[in-house]
Amino acid sequence: MTIKVNRSVEVVVPPREPHFVGDGFRVHNFMPSAYRLDMERMDPFIVMDYNSKHYFEPSDHQRGVGVHPHRGFETVTIAYKGRIAHHDSSGGGGIIGEGDVQWMTAGAGILHKEYHEESFSKKGGIFQMVQLWVNLPAASRMTQPTYQGIKKSEMPALPLPGGGTARLIAGSFMGAIGPANTHSPMHVLNLELNADEEVALSLPSDYNTALLIIEGSLVINGTVKAAVDHFVLMDNDGESFAIKANENAVVLVLSGKPLKEPIVAHGPFVMNTREQIIQAYQDFNASKFGVLK
Ligand code: MN
Repeated sequence: MTIKVNRSVEVVVPPREPHFVGDGFRVHNFMPSAYRLDMERMDPFIVMDYNSKHYFEPSDHQRGVGVHPHRGFETVTIAYKGRIAHHDSSGGGGIIGEGDVQWMTAGAGILHKEYHEESFSKKGGIFQMVQLWVNLPAASRMTQPTYQGIKKSEMPALPLPGGGTARLIAGSFMGAIGPANTHSPMHVLNLELNADEEVALSLPSDYNTALLIIEGSLVINGTVKAAVDHFVLMDNDGESFAIKANENAVVLVLSGKPLKEPIVAHGPFVMNTREQIIQAYQDFNASKFGVLK
């Protein structure tokens, strides 16, 4: 198949050395990093931590991250292998498994904890997940905190021309709407491609767009090779690009309309101004983010 393409690859970014977040998440940080991917480049996607496949030994202790606050954005966790539990001070919580997503809107302020689900911890196994921070527009930054637990079975599975399937998490794609509620326009989906299939994607040129290769390896636009666990930043010079899978592949696609607002981030808070960051610390220290044990 020959696909007409007009959108080029800006850069293929290899995974950095992993580090641990708490004791449960062994992640490669892709954003924000010094490698062109500052918090503005993929606006509204401002942070990406990727736990590439990693084997965790059986444990009676549930590994993870203890209670901590957030304000001003959303944390989106996509599970590929293993099971993750979550609880937050808005009363939200649940367990996500392979292919499921938790979409937590911290908004005005939340406390949460994230850890390996109990039975997964006891058995041990391969763990693979992505955590994104999705920025909120100023008008929504102080919205009420919410939690959306989204099962893979709730995501529209769309057959792609050329082969493979798109599973839509958020936004519109091929006439379908993803189950996640978002506060700004974006498309978030997983592609499941079979070996030697080539598909075309067309996403608005002004939407910041990237791929994360979860399984397999790809050739993009017929020439650019990208291996597993690599991050492919697309240029904003056109809409359409072609993805060919060398072997069975899973690809996370992020594409979002930039908010183009000032970003001031400090620790677990993301706001528009320094004064708002100071206020966030004051409110957190005054226990205004609720209670979570
Ligand atoms: Mn968190």
